[in-house]
Amino acid sequence: MSKTQRDEGLEKIKRIFYTNITYGCNSNCVFCYSHNTKHIKDTYNEVSRKSLVEYWNRMCVTKSDRIIINGGEPLLHTEFKDILAATQKYGCEVLIYTNGRLLSTLDTSILISNYRFVVPIHGHEELHDNITRVRGSYQEMIEGVNRLASSKALVDLKVIINNQMAIHREDYLKTLDSLCQLPDINAVHITKMADTILSQRNQCPSVTPEMSSRCTKGLFDYFKNKCVVKLFDTCIREIVSDNSIIVINELGQEIKVFFKDAQHEFALNLEKPYLRCMDTCKYKDICQSAVGEYTVLEVNDNSFSIGLE
Ligand code: SF4
Repeated sequence: MSKTQRDEGLEKIKRIFYTNITYGCNSNCVFCYSHNTKHIKDTYNEVSRKSLVEYWNRMCVTKSDRIIINGGEPLLHTEFKDILAATQKYGCEVLIYTNGRLLSTLDTSILISNYRFVVPIHGHEELHDNITRVRGSYQEMIEGVNRLASSKALVDLKVIINNQMAIHREDYLKTLDSLCQLPDINAVHITKMADTILSQRNQCPSVTPEMSSRCTKGLFDYFKNKCVVKLFDTCIREIVSDNSIIVINELGQEIKVFFKDAQHEFALNLEKPYLRCMDTCKYKDICQSAVGEYTVLEVNDNSFSIGLE
């Protein structure tokens, strides 16, 4: 196959290189997605920069691909800055999923506009700290987001609707108040707390689509004229029923996700998860689940499209 044929083939595919660079974390979220993570405030089971660069080179990463750096808490990795720097030669977008607590210690002069940091917020200060189980984590996260907002990197906030916010109006309103303190951001992601091995172990109540629907609409109304809104794994029924909307699928590409950590390398099998509400819901085709397919319902200036988180 010639280089041109290979490049044309790659353009039809959006490749996402997802890596957990450490399994250590300085928070201890009640529903942590990664049950392999040790909440030891230090790095653990790191993948080295050398091994990542060898992998990205072997996979011929190009500027149309995406690299995702996750953990644990990636900023705990002993080579975090060097890993970020190593991604530059591929020219692709780089997403960093971080709890935001160490962002204020990061040298922002190393940041470029290809980097997009995705930082979760679990509600107002007390609620956020209850979810992370670390007092002061909210203030550290806000400080980090403010610092990042004045750098060249992009900042996305991920509002994760939890049971408390969905049920108690007072917590929801206090959360909206706390969102007012945030600086201008690139985008907001609205999603709900997932049921995980740890949430079940911690007897954390589920947030059902029905429960998330009202909060999702309220948050959407708050953010829709402020920044891009990305909706996934939450109920969009109240948003789309309010609007005579047309949803454009801008992706036009097959998505392939490749996972790597210190021990493993494999391609993920992407599937839309089945929800019981889909049996009767007329919006099921535009309702996105990033957990299953890495896609989102994106809203920008009142136009709706299918995009990526
Ligand atoms: S399928 Fe319909 S009811 Fe179910 S979560 Fe999606 S929008 Fe809500």
